[in-house]
Amino acid sequence: MIRNTDPQRRFADLLHHRAHRLQKGDPVAPGIISATTYHLPEVVGAPFAYGRMSTPTWEELEQQLAILEDAPCVSFPSGMAAISAALFAILKTGDRLIIPSDGYYVTRVLGTEFLKPLGIQIIEVPTLEMAAYDLTGSAVVYLETPSNPGLDLCDIALIATRAHAAGARLIVDNTTMTPLLQRPLDLGADLVVAADTKAPAGHSDVLFGHVAGRDPALIQRIRDWRRISGAVPGAFEAWLVHRGIETLEVRLDRMCRSAEAIAQRLAAHPRITALRYPGLPNDPSHTLALKQMSGFGFLLTFTLEDEARAEAFLAACPYIAQTTSFGGTHTAGERRARWGDPVAPGFIRLSVGCEPLDPLWDAIEAALNAT
Ligand SMILES: *Cc1c(COP(=O)(O)O)cnc(C)c1O
Repeated sequence: MIRNTDPQRRFADLLHHRAHRLQKGDPVAPGIISATTYHLPEVVGAPFAYGRMSTPTWEELEQQLAILEDAPCVSFPSGMAAISAALFAILKTGDRLIIPSDGYYVTRVLGTEFLKPLGIQIIEVPTLEMAAYDLTGSAVVYLETPSNPGLDLCDIALIATRAHAAGARLIVDNTTMTPLLQRPLDLGADLVVAADTKAPAGHSDVLFGHVAGRDPALIQRIRDWRRISGAVPGAFEAWLVHRGIETLEVRLDRMCRSAEAIAQRLAAHPRITALRYPGLPNDPSHTLALKQMSGFGFLLTFTLEDEARAEAFLAACPYIAQTTSFGGTHTAGERRARWGDPVAPGFIRLSVGCEPLDPLWDAIEAALNAT
């Protein structure tokens, strides 16, 4: 694969990735090929054989994702299917896995409920302590930065060096950033896992995930896991993600600009405490964010007085969808304590969407002042 390290060029290439294959009269958008079987009078040389092995629609999407990641990619029917593939394909009995204690909680449950009973030791480490943690004897170090929902960061390049010195592989969940804002593979990670359910697909209408990596043997093992476990994406879902990704760059541009402006305005609002946004110069994550991220993202968190005030604020704001998840076109917010996250009862995670900034801020400010 020819490496393409210019992010702007990469996205321009992504939008035209099918062009060199088109014959006169071909559709410009890829087709949705849902066939399970392919004409196979002779097994050798057939590009497609059976739908659990590969399909034309996944391949269109994986070519697009490969340009975005600048690395080979394997697609999955959800973010958790991608994370499971990466962990089950690498770990074996007796191995030690280091995961963040403050990251996406389903990954921790996968560890305790399904990996630990197979004899894999799971050690949970807070994101902020990851860089100093002794990695000796670990097989896999798994990071999520910024952590979700706390928005703490850890130094990917430093931990990659330390993990490799300890003989471990480094996996990074890059869901909150996307390949446009943070490049874990360039910083030394062995694999990136991501939920394309969030900003890449971007319209809150499809679950999807992928694994990216530059070690051919490792990526082949991930592909084998998909083919053998059967965790295969559907053609329509792959097509929706391909369509969503075409506007990822413009959506992220709007979302990150608005998030930064809203964070600055919230910082000056008397009702807000414990505001976190890596783009604020006084945020504890800011210095590291400048070093390893090329944007500050669209997620911010803050705390209102108590549960009742936080719920009243969310209910009063017409431009905040009260949903879990993030990265959609609409601004979304929720009180994370309702899921049992170890945060204050009035803690809100806001995923800033694509609404024009002024009406969005006016609605947020009015809801804050009314509750
Ligand atoms: C949502 C999410 C996942 C899981 O993705 P699904 O598509 O819901 O399976 C994994 N990691 C992070 C950080 C997430 O936000």
